[in-house]
Amino acid sequence: MQLKEQLFQTTQERFNCSPDQCDDRQLYEALLLLTRQLAQDRPAPAGGRKLYYFSAEFLMGKLLSNNLLALGLHGEVKALLADLGRDLGVIEAMEPEPSLGNGGLGRLAACFLDSIAALGLPGDGVGLNYHYGLFRQQFDKNRQTELPDPWLETESWLIPTGVNFTVPFGGFDLKAVLYDIAIPGANNQYANRLHLFDVAEPADKPWVGIGFDKGDIPHRLTSFLYPDDSDEAGRLLRVYQQYFMVSAGAQLILSELTARGYTLDTLADHVVVQINDTHPSMVIPELIRLLTERGLSFDQALDQVRRTCAYTNHTILAEALEKWPMSFIEKVAPQLVPVIQELDRRVKETCPDPKVAIVDEQNRVHMAHMDIHCGFSVNGVAALHTEILKNSELKPFYDLYPERFNNKTNGVTLRRWLEACNPELSALIDSCIGPDWRRDARKLEGLLAFQEDKAVLDRLLAVKQSNKNLLCRLLWAEQGIELDPYSLFDIQVKRLHEYKRQQMNALYIIHKYLEIKAGRLPKRPVTVLFGAKAAPAYVMAKHIIHLILCLQKLIENDPQVRPWLRVAMVENYNVSWAERLIPACDISEQISLASKEASGTGNMKFMANGAVTLGTLDGANVEIAQLVGEENIYTFGQHSDAVIALYQGDRPDGRSYNPLDCYHRPAVEPLVDFLVSPELLAVGDPSELSALWKDMKNKDWFMALLDVEDYITAKERAVTDYGDRQVWAKKMLVNIAKSGYFSSDRTIRQYNEDIWHLK
Ligand SMILES: *Cc1c(COP(=O)(O)O)cnc(C)c1O
Repeated sequence: MQLKEQLFQTTQERFNCSPDQCDDRQLYEALLLLTRQLAQDRPAPAGGRKLYYFSAEFLMGKLLSNNLLALGLHGEVKALLADLGRDLGVIEAMEPEPSLGNGGLGRLAACFLDSIAALGLPGDGVGLNYHYGLFRQQFDKNRQTELPDPWLETESWLIPTGVNFTVPFGGFDLKAVLYDIAIPGANNQYANRLHLFDVAEPADKPWVGIGFDKGDIPHRLTSFLYPDDSDEAGRLLRVYQQYFMVSAGAQLILSELTARGYTLDTLADHVVVQINDTHPSMVIPELIRLLTERGLSFDQALDQVRRTCAYTNHTILAEALEKWPMSFIEKVAPQLVPVIQELDRRVKETCPDPKVAIVDEQNRVHMAHMDIHCGFSVNGVAALHTEILKNSELKPFYDLYPERFNNKTNGVTLRRWLEACNPELSALIDSCIGPDWRRDARKLEGLLAFQEDKAVLDRLLAVKQSNKNLLCRLLWAEQGIELDPYSLFDIQVKRLHEYKRQQMNALYIIHKYLEIKAGRLPKRPVTVLFGAKAAPAYVMAKHIIHLILCLQKLIENDPQVRPWLRVAMVENYNVSWAERLIPACDISEQISLASKEASGTGNMKFMANGAVTLGTLDGANVEIAQLVGEENIYTFGQHSDAVIALYQGDRPDGRSYNPLDCYHRPAVEPLVDFLVSPELLAVGDPSELSALWKDMKNKDWFMALLDVEDYITAKERAVTDYGDRQVWAKKMLVNIAKSGYFSSDRTIRQYNEDIWHLK
């Protein structure tokens, strides 16, 4: 049946009317139903081994456009709607974004599912069906407030499967009900699945504030994605969530294995489990428990699991490496305690070094340690990150198991992050090199042939301007933010964290403000855009949001500064905002303290959309710099080895970092002191601003003051270079041309060749 007829049939059945009589919501729902069915009807790819990608987060973003693209129907639907006098963009606005992730880690999982399906590989995601995504952020009196973020509607992308498992918690059992989201492959006729487990009787009311009844596990377990774990009840809930996910997931794996006709002692031949960060690590003892319960010896079970499980490390931040008190596990899943203790005993028998123990002296379980001892692969997510893991962070493990360590530099799906979010640029690329890059991103390098082509460079600049205009219209319409689309757009969007150093960017703004006040006008108007959510209990992050919003307000009301410098923080930064902000960016801020950002993926999206990176040599920035060459990126700041030495206090002079030394430099002190200046205190909260000021001077744990002068110099250089439009356009072109390396299709091919061996 033709698409048009299918749409007519759907709206007729559903709403008893024809598409042209439907309102936007009804049309959205009809397209959702149609698309969901088409994706669901596709067969799974065949293959020898099957991948299960376990992740506590899948930050999928809206799916309608994405799925229409994958099904090859995007153009047809757009034209069909246009015939009806309707606009796909408007229909899409009806779709709620499933924000089932905090940031990069969850978005990576979503990009990976897209690429696994596009490559026709058999691999499903396993996660939880949170009823509320990460909170919806609102600004009120220059502060972040958090509101519930429901995404489930009567019709959503979820497909009920009728499959369920029983998860045995300490003291009670809980039914895990399986829902699927179909993931159609972009270049084939297949679809994989994202398996999301839910409780059978979820609470129907939204929680009030962040402090809902965390004790009501049977109804609240899947209520919402945990944005932080700063209180005891929340931490325990997290362990409940994790065990629920992995126990149900492990049961699913074994039932599919036996359904395929294989015996349990061949698990490793037919299954591979990728553990995305440590949240799903309990899948290891759970699989061992289930296999032994079903007749395998402990040795046999461990041997299978060790050859089945692979672990991806995402961070070297100590506070993010999970260590659960054994008492938590005793309470949540007591049946895992003897398994973990036996794993720990075996490790201690052969390696007595306490640094590699699974269970430490304080009886805490180190999840990453268990993953490394009991899996066959450990990977970092960018070349530098993997080197840091091998040489310092996980060195004792690397000494034990060098063959298990490997690097898989992250990637992003250019289907969402270029084709879908930047149609004008995509069309320009097509007109230069043809459409093959859409299947093979490395073909983007063909653009290098146009570096001296003035017509192409001019069109590139025109596309960027058009995307900036569009962003300005949307920001005005949706958030009442009015910007100058002809100013330079400098953008930092990512979760708010001190290591990402939004506070250092704020110091640049202060520098610029003071310059303008002193009559030294900049070369051109600059707009500094931010988007970031702070974990609700992360006090310092909230202070930084307050600072940025105060600067925004201060400059807004200053007719002398406003024409030259604007600051805007976009409310509720999420995937949909990212898709609008990134195509409009001139300078991409990637300014984490070297060694702290494992990879970053925002940096890759910006590059592919023709932004030029201003960054430290951290994470994948290092690889970006190598690919584009130093004239096409602005790098600055201390290198990772120097930073690591500072943390360890083993500089040649034996000293560790003292922020006061930097603070007292003549160029730095006025910037920091501006936090408690009368001008800023007139708009902001004195206690918040002075707390931040004191922290910056005295602690500055992520060394913003160490790099700030170098940062300002590099940024001024970029702002100056931007003035030569042809030279700048060439930088943009080289960045787009080299971004093909960061396609997640490349990353997934490498996972498959080195780790998964799916076909
Ligand atoms: C890509 C992405 C991130 C990750 O950004 P980083 O700059 O790598 O931290 C976070 N949030 C959203 C919505 C994204 O799309």
